[in-house]
Amino acid sequence: MQLKAVLFDMDGVLFDSMPLHAKCWVAACSKFGLKATERQTYLHEGRTAFATMNIFALEQWGREATEEEVEEIYREKCRLFNDCKEAPKMPGADSLLAKIKAAGLKIAVVTGSGQASLLGRLERHYSGYFLPELIVSSKDCKYGKPNPDPYLLGLERTGVEADEAVVVENAPLGVEAGRAAGIFTIAVNTGPLADKELLDAGANVLFPSMQALADGWEDLLSSL
Ligand code: MG
Repeated sequence: MQLKAVLFDMDGVLFDSMPLHAKCWVAACSKFGLKATERQTYLHEGRTAFATMNIFALEQWGREATEEEVEEIYREKCRLFNDCKEAPKMPGADSLLAKIKAAGLKIAVVTGSGQASLLGRLERHYSGYFLPELIVSSKDCKYGKPNPDPYLLGLERTGVEADEAVVVENAPLGVEAGRAAGIFTIAVNTGPLADKELLDAGANVLFPSMQALADGWEDLLSSL
């Protein structure tokens, strides 16, 4: 394999932001009469807000959510999230990014998030690694993960083929999306789900943390 690009998911990979996202989703949904558990938010991670809200509404209200309802819930979720202390950078991400950049590989971000606050944080906290044109967010694709479209757009923007890239993902649906795009997908289990849930989603290989991936990066590359 001639590796040319690494496509990173953002939440739960570059930032340890999933615990906050989960809490804020649960609180925002409950305010609008939708029950959601933190575990569900981890299982749905990667979907667009609209897709996730629709699933909850169909299950609990017996109908799809309207665009206005989704916007209201999402606005509340973002308000709660932005009121929280900033989520920390994921330990290990810096050293992995430094290795990838030193090797001259392209780096892209493919996220289901569209929150301006988090996208802006990429530049502030990981200065010099991410070009704005190599960031794919929920605003760029009609269908979010587990659809392959976000990762296919990531390949297109980096100008590499599926067999010249790897994906780094923490969520089962993100893993599914990476594999559906035909890309070797590395799972990092940075959250509360079982390893099996990431492996069953199709992960080619699994690391228990970003630090472990950073430490094992050279060995992984030589095995590819
Ligand atoms: Mg994620």
